[in-house]
Amino acid sequence: MIENVRPGVSARNARVVLFDFDGTLSLIRSGWMDVMVPLMVEILAELKTGETEEQLAAVVEDFVWRLTGKETIYQMMALADAVRARGGQPLEPLVYKKMYLDRLWEKIESRIDALKKGHASPQDYLVPGSRELLEYLRDRGLKMYLASGTDEVYMKEEARLLGVTQYFEGGVYGAQDDYRSFSKAILIQRILSSADFQGHQFLGFGDGYVEIEEVKNVGGVAVGVASEEPGCTRVDEWKRERLIGVGADYIVPNYLCREELIASLFQAS
Ligand SMILES: [Mg+2]
Repeated sequence: MIENVRPGVSARNARVVLFDFDGTLSLIRSGWMDVMVPLMVEILAELKTGETEEQLAAVVEDFVWRLTGKETIYQMMALADAVRARGGQPLEPLVYKKMYLDRLWEKIESRIDALKKGHASPQDYLVPGSRELLEYLRDRGLKMYLASGTDEVYMKEEARLLGVTQYFEGGVYGAQDDYRSFSKAILIQRILSSADFQGHQFLGFGDGYVEIEEVKNVGGVAVGVASEEPGCTRVDEWKRERLIGVGADYIVPNYLCREELIASLFQAS
């Protein structure tokens, strides 16, 4: 079930673990891309450049993927650039972000509501095997950090509803209004400058470009979560190819294969 992209890579010296949230642990926002991409295609199509919807979708998917894991505002800044590049007058990226979040909310409101009222269980909105994996990593003595490109006010509440906050002794971090004040790269640099950990002691889990790239940049080991959402039983080929392209050392569809993954990650030399 697990794919070891770079055999021989080991995380047995890992002491710190960085988890992305959406698509890596949480499925509350599953389907966000099916909201973001059509909205952006719609906005670009209004400029009537002669590009087909398929061509615009390819352009949009490319920059949305490259910025996945980064704060949402960066995807909206890229949209504004794409509008400008086509001779249009873009709205403020924050306005685009609000349009996107309003549409996404229609899709996820009932999920959050069901969790709040206890009509759904956290298991229903966690990548399968998440809790058991988090428990194992914590018991192994690894210090865990949760970092998301979703606004911190929302993702903190969603992490609480899913019951995973307790595992992150290092803290739970999300996007700030001042987007320059936080990023996964800033968090990693902050952890490194504390001098408690070194880059090769990082283990990262993510389904997006940014977290995999940042963990690999400092010399850590990265597990790419290429789940075919929302079922999460199979590998999504689109995500898999892209995660391998950015440097993922492992690919998993979920964490039901955690025993095999743990054995491979932490095997003695
Ligand atoms: Mg993600």
